[in-house]
Amino acid sequence: MLLLNPGPVTLSERVRQSLLQTDLCHREPEFFDLQDEARKRLVAAYELDPAQWSAVLMTGSGTAAVESMIAGLVPNGGRLLVVENGVYGDRIAQIAKQYGIEHEVVKYEWMQAPDTDAIVARLDADTFTNVAIIHHETTTGRLNDIAALSRACASHGIGLLVDAVSSFGAEAIDFSDGGIAAVAATANKCLHGVPGAAFVIVRRDALAKATSRTYYLGIARLAQLQDARNTPFTPSVHAYYALVEALREFEDEGGWHARHRRYADLAEQVRAGLATLGIESALPPGESSVVLRAYRLPAGVTYEILHDALKAKSFVIYAGQGGLSKELFRISTMGAVDKDVMNRLITSVGELLR
Ligand SMILES: *Cc1c(COP(=O)(O)O)cnc(C)c1O
Repeated sequence: MLLLNPGPVTLSERVRQSLLQTDLCHREPEFFDLQDEARKRLVAAYELDPAQWSAVLMTGSGTAAVESMIAGLVPNGGRLLVVENGVYGDRIAQIAKQYGIEHEVVKYEWMQAPDTDAIVARLDADTFTNVAIIHHETTTGRLNDIAALSRACASHGIGLLVDAVSSFGAEAIDFSDGGIAAVAATANKCLHGVPGAAFVIVRRDALAKATSRTYYLGIARLAQLQDARNTPFTPSVHAYYALVEALREFEDEGGWHARHRRYADLAEQVRAGLATLGIESALPPGESSVVLRAYRLPAGVTYEILHDALKAKSFVIYAGQGGLSKELFRISTMGAVDKDVMNRLITSVGELLR
């Protein structure tokens, strides 16, 4: 199968083979070497200074990392402003609610961009310790502008918490202006690993003030033990094998800049190919990520018809979420897929429409 859904991704042969390494106990030095290498490579992915930034690993899907970040990094008595323009922004609001974190949600229509000026006006008018936003809102493929918000957070002394689950490794993230306190992401999206390992890249000064609201996902304890070549629980050892191999491959292929260019080429190829078949992008390409794009279902073709016809040809596409499920379908460019795969995809869609 060729996975064109937003993770898990089609694996490269190199990453797939890495799963077949020797059985490994997570209390042996070989495991801690693996853990150290993963953490080091994650910090290096955006050329961050390890003296200022730490990568904290955990076993779970991307949501585990987001939950660890929100529950751990909003201080006790703190106040969080959640920016929502899709499913994943809504999920952060639910996490805040679950932990009894005082929060306010600024909501936008799922097809809309957040209004940064209005958000900054809220920060001027009231007191918040943190802002949370989704970098790439996978619901629609929209790339939210986090750079302007990050600068505003820096000038207000507010820690910006970023869900970069579907952008880390392929889209630009500016960590240098002092606004971003942490980003949460996962092994099995733009990094091309397998599900089971997730992580938070966190500024060490924010980590030093972390709370212990949550047990399993407690970021301070995870970091402390990992720094001491230890781990509180049994990690997904095989997912770590794959993450480390995927990060080596990521470096060999030229890092996030190269991955961005590769995805951008594939995304444009798909957009142009579908456009010749009369299928329109849901958002202007300039507002979308290169990681995933949403398209309008052609007249008279339901998602189920399109999905099943493509699956019969080994392509797994992805439905729209929530209210968008009747209107949209989504195509991701993540994973070991190339131009040839996308050409065959477009040909298959063309055959179905004929
Ligand atoms: C995939 C994704 C998540 C996490 O989903 P999991 O199923 O828990 O891995 C969170 N945020 C965004 C933006 C995502 O795309």
